[in-house]
Amino acid sequence: MEQFNRNITGLTPSASIEFMAKAKALQAQGLDVINLAGGEPDFDTPAPIIEEACRQMRAGFTHYTVGQGLPELRARIARKLLEENAAPYDADEIIVTPGGKNAIYLAISTLLNPGDEVLYLDPAWVSYVPMIEAAGGKAVPVVLRYEKGYRIESAALEAAVTERTKLLIVNYPNNPTGKVLTRPEAKILEQFLLRHKDVILLSDEIYERIVFDGNTTVSPASFPAIRDRVITVNGFSKSVAMTGWRLGYLAAPRPIARQTYKLYQHSITCVSGFIQKAAVVALDCAAEIEAMRASYAHRRELFFAALNAIDGVEAMAPEGAFYAWVRIEKGDMDSFALCNYLLEEAMVVGVPGESYGSGGAKCVRFSFATALEDLLEAARRMKTALDKL
Ligand code: PMP
Ligand code: GLU
Repeated sequence: MEQFNRNITGLTPSASIEFMAKAKALQAQGLDVINLAGGEPDFDTPAPIIEEACRQMRAGFTHYTVGQGLPELRARIARKLLEENAAPYDADEIIVTPGGKNAIYLAISTLLNPGDEVLYLDPAWVSYVPMIEAAGGKAVPVVLRYEKGYRIESAALEAAVTERTKLLIVNYPNNPTGKVLTRPEAKILEQFLLRHKDVILLSDEIYERIVFDGNTTVSPASFPAIRDRVITVNGFSKSVAMTGWRLGYLAAPRPIARQTYKLYQHSITCVSGFIQKAAVVALDCAAEIEAMRASYAHRRELFFAALNAIDGVEAMAPEGAFYAWVRIEKGDMDSFALCNYLLEEAMVVGVPGESYGSGGAKCVRFSFATALEDLLEAARRMKTALDKL
């Protein structure tokens, strides 16, 4: 008998987590490494959120909670989705999860039967494919092209769809490319769903509050004709600097939410009550969220100017999220070799572009949710290292 589930032994480890761990291990050895690998805000969680969590813990709100999330939190999330995203979901269509990652995992596991196909846009965050494969599904990339600014094209979706396609996953603002979902692209998705009546769309909007230059990103659930087939995922990690709290949610049409909740009951039970109470406060932290966004915007400007001043480096300013997705045309190295070279020569850690799929060739991802002086020092060191090639 095989010892392990084949779906799990075949998975690739998470590149972002592996490179974050590598950078931390080197820092622990006392090396002066600049860690731009992890997608994690460097800000502390805003004080009112921490105070509310402490207050609730002291008040004894430390037991199991029952249900798919506290009613007051689900009602507040439903209001947020309607007011900020024009996405109408009832509170009973919302499930509060330990992180957006878990929300995506639950939805995928609930929907897929072995051999079902899932389309995803490549370059893609490193965890979609493994989650699909863990559920026995087949991940089918729709490769978006660097030369075309990674914009969605209807023909590419049509070329990839089959009668086995169950789900399409999109993520905007995008990790790693920094693109937002424009209205014409959202229309392409809507038309695609209207042509393929069995396909469900999962929209991962975890970076939704981090946008630049007046850009906005469209929530597909705001299109009435397809709302009943759209699962929207969001969370608190990125927008309110709450990565370590592990808090996110999914909003799904009622039949999908009902099935997903059974898996949740049997695997998670609930999210800590005091964390959920603090999340209600987090949804009202508009000023704190805007201050962080403005700081990312400032860092983006200076970091990108420094990166683009390096010979052989091209960095397109992102429309949203906090990643520099940098194309490096130097030497004859793939993105893994490039990252190792930058680590050894410049002591700067990024994540190889090919971890995000074939659309990531020659690219490296650097997070700029990092102190400005570290970003500028990283760019200086990279210039010295790359000028040697
Ligand atoms: N989606 C994307 C695209 C991400 O980059 C992340 C960050 N790891 C997540 C989902 C999940 O974030 P979390 O589980 O911290 O909410
Ligand atoms: N989302 C972050 C990243 O892409 C954190 C690590 C992870 O969950 O992948 O770096």
